[in-house]
Amino acid sequence: MAKRALLTGITGQDGAYLSQFLLSKGYEVTGIVRRSSHKGLEEHRLQWLEIDKQVKLLYGDVADLSSLLRIVQQIQPDEIYNLAAQSFVASSWDQPILTAEITGVGVMNMLEAMRIGAPQARFYQASSSEMYGKIREPMQSELTPFHPRSPYAVAKLYGHWITVNYRESFGLHASSGILFNHESPLRGIEFVTRKVTDGVARIKLGLAKELRLGNIDAKRDWGHARDYVRAMWLMLQQPTADDYVVATGRTTTIRDMCRIAFDHAGLEMDKYVVIDSAFFRPAEVDVLLGNPAKAKEKLGWSPQISLEEMIVEMVEADLARLKRSR
Ligand code: NDP
Ligand code: GDP
Repeated sequence: MAKRALLTGITGQDGAYLSQFLLSKGYEVTGIVRRSSHKGLEEHRLQWLEIDKQVKLLYGDVADLSSLLRIVQQIQPDEIYNLAAQSFVASSWDQPILTAEITGVGVMNMLEAMRIGAPQARFYQASSSEMYGKIREPMQSELTPFHPRSPYAVAKLYGHWITVNYRESFGLHASSGILFNHESPLRGIEFVTRKVTDGVARIKLGLAKELRLGNIDAKRDWGHARDYVRAMWLMLQQPTADDYVVATGRTTTIRDMCRIAFDHAGLEMDKYVVIDSAFFRPAEVDVLLGNPAKAKEKLGWSPQISLEEMIVEMVEADLARLKRSR
C-alpha cells in the first residue's frame, strides 16, 4: 500500500517541491490549506510543477487544532511534514503575535494532533538557521547555542524545542531540520534572492530602472529547495528521530549573490542597485554558515546544486515568466 504523507504549508515553496519529491516516490500526498477568497491561488506553485491534480487538498489552519485533528484522524498519515509558517523575517516585526501563534504555537497544535490522532506517524518540523541569529560560532552545527534576532526566530525556537520535547516526553518520532536559507524559482518574491532575480529580469526587459535593496553586506548560506526537501524526507526514514543542520557550508554576501544575477543578464550591477533604508531590519543576522557534517554522515545527504546554477535558473525563470505575462 502507498505511504501517506500529510503536509502543512503545501502551497509554499518547500511544500510544492516536497510534494513533487514524495509523489515521485509513490506517496499519497495530502496538504492542509487555508481557505482564501481567491479560488485557485493556493495551488499556483503546485500548478507550476504540474502536480496540482495529483495531491489532495483539505481546508485547515495550524492555529485551529480541531481542523488538524480531524484531518490527521481522517488521513492516518505515515509521515507529517510541518512546513506552515509566517515565514518572512521582516514581517515578523509587523505581526509578532500572529508569527508566534502560527510559526510557534502552530507547531504544538500539529504535534498535539499527531499525538492524539496518529502517534505512530513520523513528524518533521521546519526549523531555521535564523535561530542562530547573533552567531556564537563561526560555523553553526546542531550543538551551537541559539541567539534569535527576530520575532520569527523566537517563534521558530519554540517550534524547535517543543518538537524535541514531544520526542523526549512521549517517544514520538519527531525530527527537527535546522535548514539554512534555500531558494528556487518558486521562492516568495519578498525574499532577497527572488527579489533580485525578478528585479534583474525586469531591468533586462525594460520594465524597471532600478533595484532597491537593504543591507547587502549580510551573508547567507544558500542552497536549492529541491536539494533541501530530500533531506527532510531522509530524516523521516531513519530508525530514530533526531535534529540535523542542512546547509552547503559556503557563505556569500547579498552583494555577491546579486552580482551573479546581474552578470548573467549582461547588466552592470552598480548602475541599478539603490540602497534603501526601508529594507534594513531592526536587528540583523549578519552572517550564517552551516556545518552539514551530521546530515552528510548520518543521512548520506549532500547538496547537488550550486549557488551560481540556482541564481541562473531563477533569473531565467523570471525572464520567462515576465515575457509570458507581457
Ligand atoms: P513559504 O512562505 O513559501 O510557505 C509557507 C506556507 O505556510 C504556505 O503554504 C502558507 O500558506 C502556509 N501557512 C501560513 N500560515 C498558515 C496557517 N495559519 N495555517 C496553515 N498554513 C499556513 O515558506 P517556505 O516554503 O520557504 O518554507 C517552508 C518552511 O520552512 C517554513 O516553516 C519556513 O519558515 C521554514 N524555513 C524556510 C527556509 C527557507 O530558506 N525557505 C529556511 C528555514 C526554514 P498560504 O499559501 O495560504 O500563505
Ligand atoms: P532571511 O535570511 O530569512 O531573513 O531571508 P531574506 O532573503 O529575507 O533576507 C536575507 C538577507 O538579505 C537579510 O540579511 C536581509 O537583511 C538582506 N536583505 C538586503 N536587502 C534586502 C531586501 O531588499 N529584501 C530582503 N528580503 N532582504 C534583504
